[in-house]
Amino acid sequence: MSRSITELARANVRALTPYQSARRLGGNGDVWLNANEYPLTRDWQLSQQTLNRYPECQPAEVIARYAAYAGLAPEQVLVSRGADEGIELLIRAFCEPGEDAVLFCPPTYGMYSVSAETLGVACRTVPARADWQLDLPAITAQLDGVKVIFVCSPNNPTGNPINPDDLRQLLAITAGNALVVADEAYIEFCPQASVAGWIADYPHLVVLRTLSKAFALAGLRCGFTLARPEVIALLLKVIAPYPLSTPVADLAAQALSEAGLAQMRQQVATLSENRRWLADALADCPCVASVFPSETNYLLVRFTAAEQVFKTLWDQGIILRDQNRQPGLSGCLRISIGTRTECERLITALRPLPGAGTSTEQA
Ligand code: PMP
Repeated sequence: MSRSITELARANVRALTPYQSARRLGGNGDVWLNANEYPLTRDWQLSQQTLNRYPECQPAEVIARYAAYAGLAPEQVLVSRGADEGIELLIRAFCEPGEDAVLFCPPTYGMYSVSAETLGVACRTVPARADWQLDLPAITAQLDGVKVIFVCSPNNPTGNPINPDDLRQLLAITAGNALVVADEAYIEFCPQASVAGWIADYPHLVVLRTLSKAFALAGLRCGFTLARPEVIALLLKVIAPYPLSTPVADLAAQALSEAGLAQMRQQVATLSENRRWLADALADCPCVASVFPSETNYLLVRFTAAEQVFKTLWDQGIILRDQNRQPGLSGCLRISIGTRTECERLITALRPLPGAGTSTEQA
């Protein structure tokens, strides 16, 4: 019996809803505040021209520089095609499809579920508490069969770092049974909250990092997995033979030079300053119900009429990220921090919009 091409695909792939990346969602904007990117780029020059040869699987200079930056040994660092590839490699190396599960705490980053579902690995979700910290008793009750736990800190899209005492407790209750993966994609905006230094104490702790946010290199596709050498060795068994192209390795090494790190820190200072300005200005807009505290390059904001706000801004070319359908986030939009001019344009567009009940009060 002949089947259609679609019917030939794996059942879980047929059922899969792919990750709704900002780029896939489209839009026709000139103020892009929906992907937590850095708003500006600098000029880059390639220094490596030998493109006839395959690249190193793990370019030594990139690894050495990232290890020095993170305060770890080179054997504790893996470089990959974005932190997203790190998420997938961890599930592939540690989770038996159809048997093991991954656990995470919504509202959080969407790729943990997409990668697990693609690989046929079950997802266990334990909603975050009302303050968006870990619900440790509920997690403890759900650990059976869980091999990998993703904890996003600071969390996307809520903006809060995870309480370090809770992370220590989570590491204590999972020791010997599961990996705890701290996704630190935004950690440069609150470096004191990093748990990378704890890898010395916990063989089951893994930390994910990226050049996509504070380093302003989302287009480069370069991320890092930090862990004990035995974890890194397992991931190296399943990674592609040449995960990073020669130009990517070249530019990543430049971004991790002394000058590159100084530039990154300047970028973080600029965005943090803009974030403080934007949070204050948003709090004065009638259509804003609340601005949640953030230690990242984005703000989660609850609006009195989120759908209208999203559409009104979209029509003006200001593109935000809708979080309204995530658990616990009704009425919420996520706003990436742009240049000061972009922040000002956003506020100019928001200020005239009415607050809750304004129209009925007038009617
Ligand atoms: N983790 C989180 C929390 C993120 O927000 C992102 C970026 N969307 C990633 C991982 C993936 O980063 P990368 O661009 O390095 O794949």
